[in-house]
Amino acid sequence: MEHRYISKDPAIASESNLPDYDTLRAHFTWQSARRTTVGGNIAHEAVDRHVAEGRGDVIAFRFLAEQGPSREFSYELLARESNRFANVLERLGVAPGDLVFTLSGRLPELYVAMIGTLKVRCVVAPLFSAFGPDPVRQRLQAGRGRVLITTAAAYRQKVAPIRGDLPDLEHVLLIGDDVAGDIDGQGVCVLAPLMAAASTEYSIAPTGPEDPAFVHFTSGTTGMPKGAVHVHDAVVAQETTGRYALDLRPGDVFWCTADPGWVTGTSYGLVAPLACGVTCVIDEADFDAVRWYSILEHEQVSVWYTAPTALRMLMKAGDEPVAGRDLTHLRHVASVGEPLNPEVVEWGETLLGKAIHDTWWQTETGAIMVANFASMPIRPGSMGRPVPGIEIGIVRRDSSGERVIAESGQPVFVTQPGVEGELAIRTPWPSMMRAYLNAPDRYKACFAGDWYLSGDLARIDADGYVWFIGRGDDVIKSAGHLIGPFEVESALMEYPAVVEAAVIGVPDQVVGERVEAFVVLGGGAEPSEAITRDLMAFARRRLGSAVAPRRITCEPALPHTQSGKIMRRVLRARAQGLPEGDLSTLGGSG
Ligand code: ATP
Ligand code: MG
Repeated sequence: MEHRYISKDPAIASESNLPDYDTLRAHFTWQSARRTTVGGNIAHEAVDRHVAEGRGDVIAFRFLAEQGPSREFSYELLARESNRFANVLERLGVAPGDLVFTLSGRLPELYVAMIGTLKVRCVVAPLFSAFGPDPVRQRLQAGRGRVLITTAAAYRQKVAPIRGDLPDLEHVLLIGDDVAGDIDGQGVCVLAPLMAAASTEYSIAPTGPEDPAFVHFTSGTTGMPKGAVHVHDAVVAQETTGRYALDLRPGDVFWCTADPGWVTGTSYGLVAPLACGVTCVIDEADFDAVRWYSILEHEQVSVWYTAPTALRMLMKAGDEPVAGRDLTHLRHVASVGEPLNPEVVEWGETLLGKAIHDTWWQTETGAIMVANFASMPIRPGSMGRPVPGIEIGIVRRDSSGERVIAESGQPVFVTQPGVEGELAIRTPWPSMMRAYLNAPDRYKACFAGDWYLSGDLARIDADGYVWFIGRGDDVIKSAGHLIGPFEVESALMEYPAVVEAAVIGVPDQVVGERVEAFVVLGGGAEPSEAITRDLMAFARRRLGSAVAPRRITCEPALPHTQSGKIMRRVLRARAQGLPEGDLSTLGGSG
């Protein structure tokens, strides 16, 4: 599939934080990116440092309530409030390294609590607020959480019923307005009075770069979620990528739409933008196309970080909600979490006046690893180039699809541009995960020699742009070819009536696996035999008969993780009449 390049205005490119990628890349070291600070505690880097350096008046967060007025927090107020929380936590007798879980919507108290937790060197373990009791129990047990910060409603619905299964959980702190007293006497306290009584002064004890800071659970797109442990040094990679990949600059209004229950919502909804000293908009409400465009316009958002699912939902909502809006403040738009189809990149260019910059990373990598940079031409469909300080390689796969590892233990890389294989990253980098909770063997299996193996398949073209093929588990082996679902899905997305597509391999006696597709139609198109036939012919013309789907099914919706990633494994199970598994325990990032 050939796509045109989207070039960049040289003036805009030269103003960006990374005007000359090759030169910076040649000179960049993580050591030089590290500051000498109070041991490099994330809360210091993200919040207190700005106050100490005279930027305390800058607005750190603007919280947009579902209804009613927004609430603003300057860096100074955030520093003071998180000091209060640190004092509250210390008074409870927690020790550095203890896990403090959070389970709440995007309320100011949640962010204050996360920063305060980092100050006392406890480990923040965010949970997604829409989890039911089972995923909450699994994660709290896995992390042996001692403290939980949540709302009264979430506590009653999701935690009280399983409290007997959580012997390590000593303290529950309730935030929000609807709290009333100590709910059941089991260490459940209302936070507000404790905060009011606590001092706004707190001094962060020296924090080692390797001290754990966060446990982030993966999305569970391919199986049971894993708890990735991250350390305080991660802030170095998050700040660096905030600056270079998201192009964050002083004065920016930044909106990361991811929920802080997932790694994107903390790494880039909290740590990176605050470390870069910008103003973050946090919307407390759920997705709504009109509301989202209105936020972009009225908050004068200049940098926007969102996800393909959200962009596809905006596409589905059509042009009307955006008509007549002034989006001229928007300077940089980026996306993460799933493959970004070329169709969506170009939709952004037409409708928002901004092409969308794809970025690639994982819960395990802790920060953006590959990105389309503001100064670089975009090749729609490509994830971009590795960030400065990150070296990537494509590991060869043998004829059965197994990665090739030399006797020395090092992976064997493809040597030609354009050859597909597994995307690997040379260790170490500051935000690399340091462990999976309770799963040392699974952790070890992610590495070979000096390299981290991502499990995603990709190729690198002659100019160094990285192209996503698919997750290792999702790639289809058909009649001796390896077929990446992303390419087939992107071709289907070019058909005007298709707004979402998922492509899977279904076992087939003749060809091994045959390609099947599931699509969601939009723009008023109704499923019919005629449209399916036309779409099949369209796909065959685009892709050739070896790669085009043998069957296309129109669906009202596709199965997603809770954060919106398409779960192809569910479609595979469905296509084979197998049980779909217990999806209630799964989640999603991005
Ligand atoms: P699990 O590991 O539990 O199965 P997950 O891999 O979806 O879930 P995350 O760490 O949230 O959990 O997601 C990282 C994965 O998301 C990547 O490995 C990749 O497959 C996909 N991804 C992220 N960004 C992109 C992107 N820009 N293009 C294509 N895929 C992406
Ligand atoms: Mg994963």
